Amino acid sequence: MDSLMMDYQLTLTGILRRAKEVYPERELVTRLEDGSLHRYTYGEFYQRVLKLMQVLRAQGVKPGDRVATFAWNHARHLELYFAVPCLGAVLHTLNIRLFPDQLSYIAEHAEDQIIFADSNLLSQLEEVQDELKTVRQFVVMDDSGTLPETTLSPVAEYESLLAAQEAVEAFPDLNEQAPAAMCYTSGTTGNPKGVVYSHRALYLHSMCACMNDVLAIKEADVILPMTSMFHANCWGIPYAAVMTGAKMVFPGPNPHSAELVDLIEREKVTFCSGVPTIWNMLYQYLQTNPRNVSSLSNIVCGGSAVPKSLMQKFDETYGVTITQLWGMTELTPLGTVSQLKNDMMEWGADEQYAMRGKQGVPVPGVEVRILDNDGKPQPWDGESIGELCVRGPWVASAYYNNPASAASFTEDGWFRTGDVATMDTRSFMQIADRTKDLIKSGGEWISSVEMENALMAHPDILEAAVVARPDDQWDERPMAYVVPVEGAGDRLTDEVLYDFLLEHFAKWQVPYKGDYRVIDAVPKTSVGKFDKKVLRQQYLESRAS
Ligand code: ADP
Repeated sequence: MDSLMMDYQLTLTGILRRAKEVYPERELVTRLEDGSLHRYTYGEFYQRVLKLMQVLRAQGVKPGDRVATFAWNHARHLELYFAVPCLGAVLHTLNIRLFPDQLSYIAEHAEDQIIFADSNLLSQLEEVQDELKTVRQFVVMDDSGTLPETTLSPVAEYESLLAAQEAVEAFPDLNEQAPAAMCYTSGTTGNPKGVVYSHRALYLHSMCACMNDVLAIKEADVILPMTSMFHANCWGIPYAAVMTGAKMVFPGPNPHSAELVDLIEREKVTFCSGVPTIWNMLYQYLQTNPRNVSSLSNIVCGGSAVPKSLMQKFDETYGVTITQLWGMTELTPLGTVSQLKNDMMEWGADEQYAMRGKQGVPVPGVEVRILDNDGKPQPWDGESIGELCVRGPWVASAYYNNPASAASFTEDGWFRTGDVATMDTRSFMQIADRTKDLIKSGGEWISSVEMENALMAHPDILEAAVVARPDDQWDERPMAYVVPVEGAGDRLTDEVLYDFLLEHFAKWQVPYKGDYRVIDAVPKTSVGKFDKKVLRQQYLESRAS
């Protein structure tokens, strides 16, 4: 059949051009290392992206080549987010918090050719320099525009390269299926695996993110991404922001609660993204350092389960809704969003929190199903549990150069997420656990996520992690690790915790007295999630000794 509509390619170039044509006056703000704020407009940003494309061309970057970043959230990083893909090359965001051997493994696996790195992160690259065999050029990004002393070689400085180039004359024609970007999973449950995003996937994902019932990103927003630009496309927020012409405020290097809150207040931030750990810290900070954060109207939170108690605190203290998202690197990353449906607006608070505590409904474009161990689809009854599988235009169909991981993709075209979940009668998905974190006790499952959520609702508990320990009689038993709020450590005895959990769980599910530990902090992964591998390991080591 003849095609009925124009054969228009969905590429990031279209998003970039529109920002310059429609919103040239809208601002992009970055907190620099010295604490001052840098501002420029989308119009200026566009001109610099064109120059950066010419820089890349002069460096010999060809379509499909991997160009990496090793950087915090800032406007130069956004320039790379567009210049690299719009030239037909692939933007590979390296995670700045990885261990040296993971970093060199990933850079080599992706065959990165050029790395654009922040000057304050150079020592990490210097450490693994000899292992970065495919890298033929380093480019340092420094606010002063000068090249700091470094052993990296060959090395150039970003601003000088830009200053020496004219804008690229024309955008290359790109196919929407061409690779635009790539990212490796953060390795919470194993070796990092690479995911390559097409232009089409990023384009469609951006449109989805802007939908009112998804992230509702719009021109009027002032967006502060507290999720990292080096992880999972920063949840797709930068591309969606440029698509809509939203103002962006980048937190720059090493932001702490004080700086983040300062930016929210000064720039009147409306939209913020972050993992629960960050919001928890921010809330604690605000308790002792009251500031005006009334501009906030939309907080999106995910990456790990969002405790209901956290949502409640923000509702009650600041009148701002935390919307829970579930996503994965493999999904660009948006998969589900927990927005109440219209009729639920009439519900009582407890019922509403029960729904918002779930991971939510599939976003438009993503289909989900739950499979049992035999691969049989499970009913959406809120009880039948199984592995969550997804498909859609921004779901990976394979891991990059990793045949060993083929089992993650079913023959009939679904991605197996490795998450264990239920779907309820209102189509709200709830994560019970990651397959590897589920606790199997006496043949029955205990959801660590649910128990953590319950513990974190205790007024004396800041954070809680529940992991399995081996048990001779029951195979596995839950162990609870709790971080007290300041000064509450002594109150969190085994008796108190046991009795508290008994109010929410069946007796056989509740950790035995003796299986509670009060700790200073839950170990975290490179993107701020609870690192339960470490807790399990620590338990085994303590038992052995
Ligand atoms: P990694 O697997 O290395 O952590 P990702 O950042 O891609 O890398 O994490 C995706 C995983 O994070 C999901 O498979 C899921 O287990 C977890 N996750 C993401 N969002 C949520 C959420 N709202 N609630 C519970 N778990 C979540």
